[in-house]
Amino acid sequence: MVRVGIIGGSGIYRLLENPDRRLIDTPFGSASVFTGDFGGEEIAFIPRHGEHHEVPPFRVNYRANLYALNLLGVERVIATNAVGAINPELDPGTFVIPDDFIDLTKCREGTFYDGKTVLNIRGRRVGGVIHVSMTPHTYCPEIRGAIRESAEELGVSVVDGGVYVCVEGNRFETSAEIRAMRILGGDVVGMTGCPEAALARELAMCYASISVVTNYAAGVSGRVKLTHSEVLDTFSRRIRDLSELLREAVSRIPLVRSCPCKEALDEFLDSENQ
Ligand SMILES: [Zn+2]
Repeated sequence: MVRVGIIGGSGIYRLLENPDRRLIDTPFGSASVFTGDFGGEEIAFIPRHGEHHEVPPFRVNYRANLYALNLLGVERVIATNAVGAINPELDPGTFVIPDDFIDLTKCREGTFYDGKTVLNIRGRRVGGVIHVSMTPHTYCPEIRGAIRESAEELGVSVVDGGVYVCVEGNRFETSAEIRAMRILGGDVVGMTGCPEAALARELAMCYASISVVTNYAAGVSGRVKLTHSEVLDTFSRRIRDLSELLREAVSRIPLVRSCPCKEALDEFLDSENQ
């Protein structure tokens, strides 16, 4: 069984030395997952956009990716996302550990529970109409804590907390949209954090992410025009720190889960069993 999965965003396509590649079939399509050693532990790695950045954000099969990890036995997921700064205090290159999100995506499959499909979650069958809760923690507090401690240990600076706003893409945002997101309470904006985080909760998985600020968003700090190569340039400067942070964080995630994430489906299971 593989305990930890990492979903790598833009700029992070390879993480493991000599990985095994597995194509895993799920009720939601197939997912390509790499498994191999990472800091002394076997983990699963999924490059979210494919190995060669060929899958745009709205085409990522978030459900297949997470369900494939679930079938491997993964209970803990760390994701990375390239983001733009809505909050002008977040300079390019900053690592943010979001503590909440606002989902502004428009046309993605946002749930596993379509009323028909029955899932197998670590040996339990789950199906029907299910509404998971995103409280008390939108992201897993244990994984966020492991990332925070790892950053301290390594001397890598991180911003603890922030609201991730997810947009549909593919285009970058307008200046007016960014002003609106700032009023809504957003700190960073990206195209891949949702529905991924909520889908993980629907599988009672722990999930947290490291957002890498690659640029100021439209109209922030007087920026004029954003290009995708600028995003990748900034990301590549931080890739070493990010890899070390991930490796340390994996080793610091407690073996036994004591966070509420694992209870996300208990209410449903209890009522079904009565
Ligand atoms: Zn958790």
